[in-house]
Amino acid sequence: MTRDEILDPTALPRRTVLAGAIAAGGAALATAASAAETPGVLAGKVAIVTGGTSGIGAVTAAALARAGAKVAFNGRREALGREVEARIRREGGDVAYTRADVRDAAQMERFVAGTLARWGRLDIAFNNAGIDLPPAPIADTDIAGFDDQVATNLRGVFVAMKYELPHLARAKGAMINMASIGGRHAFPNIVAYGATKAAVIHMTRAAAQEYGREVRINALAPGAIETPMLERVRRDWQVTTEQLVAPYPMRRAGTPEEVAAVVVFLASDAASYVSGHVIGIDGGDLT
Ligand code: NAP
Repeated sequence: MTRDEILDPTALPRRTVLAGAIAAGGAALATAASAAETPGVLAGKVAIVTGGTSGIGAVTAAALARAGAKVAFNGRREALGREVEARIRREGGDVAYTRADVRDAAQMERFVAGTLARWGRLDIAFNNAGIDLPPAPIADTDIAGFDDQVATNLRGVFVAMKYELPHLARAKGAMINMASIGGRHAFPNIVAYGATKAAVIHMTRAAAQEYGREVRINALAPGAIETPMLERVRRDWQVTTEQLVAPYPMRRAGTPEEVAAVVVFLASDAASYVSGHVIGIDGGDLT
């Protein structure tokens, strides 16, 4: 099934068609998203991706490299980081993995400085690293778990922004921060996750005001995206994908490639007048 067939408004019943796409694992759409990338659109640029060892970060690091950027990414799991690095190099990408924890400011300062030492500039930063924890009502929410989400999803993005922004300002670059649909809507039982993602949206808007003349700064608010995190959500929440995506008009989960395509767009000159926004990547969610 082609993407055009899926999106064809005359191809009814749409839900049956989309169910086919879901059954196919979204593979057709993932291919279409990759095909939409323009090779060379980021030629000569240097990018940082936080949390590139898995999921959206790993796929986006590869997409940025295919678009011509040199890509530095981090994550704590070194073996996975080396695998992703090798895969992108096999595709011809210029990429470097660094083991760095976004909760550790000194490690992040060294990661950013190392990127500058290696490639001399920074044009693009995708601050993506984040964690989720099993859902619980507030009274049962573990304080250490709350603190870890704040340290990773919120303070980790702040720390990355702090060290990246002076270099991005020099290059008149672009920053993309990872929020979530959970930062736009108040969902029960994930108060820490939702609060950290809402705070990322606020930091993004504030930073876009502060750096308006030099850096374009936007946030992403994806809905359910098919990654290891979504696997954990299905397991911990005891829900199916169909239940999770029931509020979305498209009635399917997104793919990491569909997020990566938006990052490449926001990082490119095609988005030269787009800043301070939160971009939903959520199948048209209306909740
Ligand atoms: P994932 O596959 O679990 O990837 C998370 C990434 O974050 C991994 O590379 C992980 O690397 C990294 N990370 C976590 N803690 C870190 C730390 N302390 N220091 C450095 N890196 C760290 O999940 P994903 O779905 O791709 O999630 C990526 C981002 O998208 C997250 O911010 C998530 O909240 C957001 N998001 C996801 C969805 C979805 O449905 N999947 C929806 C909305 C938003 P290591 O474990 O190797 O450190």
